[in-house]
Amino acid sequence: MAYLSVKNVIRVVGVIIGMVLALCSCRDAGKQMSSDTPKISEVNAAEITAGNRLIAITGVTIIDGNGGQPLSDGCVLVNGNMIEAVGSLHSVAIPEEAEVVDASGMTLMPGLIDAHFHLDRTKGLPSLFLRNGVTSVRDPGAWIEAYKEEREGDRPNPRLFLCGPHLDMPPPAYPYDAYIVRDSIETVNAVNKQISEGASAIKVYFRMPPDLIRIACNTAREKGVPVTAHLEITEAMEAIEAGLDGVEHITSFGLTLTPRRQAEKYRQSVLSSNDFRRHGRYELWSALDIDGKEVDSLARFLVRKGTFISPTLGPFEYRFKDGDHDTTRLKGFNNMKALTARLQKAGVRMVLGSHSMIEYAEEGWAYQREMELLVESGIDPADVIIASTIQNARYFRIEDRLGSIEKGKIADLILLKGDPLKDISAMRNIERVMLNGVWIR
Ligand SMILES: [Zn+2]
Repeated sequence: MAYLSVKNVIRVVGVIIGMVLALCSCRDAGKQMSSDTPKISEVNAAEITAGNRLIAITGVTIIDGNGGQPLSDGCVLVNGNMIEAVGSLHSVAIPEEAEVVDASGMTLMPGLIDAHFHLDRTKGLPSLFLRNGVTSVRDPGAWIEAYKEEREGDRPNPRLFLCGPHLDMPPPAYPYDAYIVRDSIETVNAVNKQISEGASAIKVYFRMPPDLIRIACNTAREKGVPVTAHLEITEAMEAIEAGLDGVEHITSFGLTLTPRRQAEKYRQSVLSSNDFRRHGRYELWSALDIDGKEVDSLARFLVRKGTFISPTLGPFEYRFKDGDHDTTRLKGFNNMKALTARLQKAGVRMVLGSHSMIEYAEEGWAYQREMELLVESGIDPADVIIASTIQNARYFRIEDRLGSIEKGKIADLILLKGDPLKDISAMRNIERVMLNGVWIR
């Protein structure tokens, strides 16, 4: 009996120890989960003031960002930093204590999201973009500390989604904004390091071969972080097969659409000199057949893969000037616009990136210029607005909290004069901008 009971005691103690160990390992696993859990966050989340008032914006035409018909004579009720109600004016109960903003004759939209913003050594640029309606930006290639000065200044900033320097191979096209990787271990380490420092996306540059892109994508995917690329001399379909979420610049598809022998000539020229592409890309693009079969199969591939495309037409725009009539450049640029529209119409997920400082936009208005260029390319203004709002939110993986005017989402809103569905240049008539429930303009 005594023997048995000792045995039982040992068994019971063993079971208890086992349970405790199991519990500990569960808690460890839980901890590990939470520190490794994907978290796409703006680096300046803690620096953005949250609203603490009740605000009713009334009599306004609402374009909610999700597409569909705009709602006229609408009302949006903001409570703190959140959207509490959206509907027609008579359907929303406005609490007595709410501050009422009569916005009759104006249009209310979600804050604009910019997938391709650069500081461009221009002081105050993020803040200027915010005042012009861009409430979230992603910089696809800058050291996170490059934003220190803007973050420490007095001006309010948009939500800053940063990537850290883009990954490139020697010799880098932009050494100042690049981090060089030479093999798979350096790639894994660079991706992990940047994510641990707050990167909410990773960008790879054109010297990275598909094999290293695959390693970057696999590493980032484990952390729930998307990867985007500037390709140009890496074949786009191979790079996308390697796992990319998005592609920056419509020019990233030139190589894919060019006969192989000619494409290889371009690739070798750029590999020997980064500057070759400045005019070389227009030569390549002026020769493309945008109505050809290759474009159809590219479009089908991109739709199947669900790849996001940020065309950034702005930095490539070309117009005839006095003493400068470069027909090759003009034809090349027109083909970039034509391809962008064809891909969009085929159902490719189009998003908007401004490139922030471009020749044909005044300082602070590159985003609006990009919207106009997309419309000039043949894309419907309603689709350009989707690309600017909810589609970009999906690209960033923040669509659960931003990108549309819906109950339960964060109140990043813009109020403008005119109807951008009729005339996209109305996007320049920004009257007020709300960030996180606070009017900043
Ligand atoms: Zn760029």
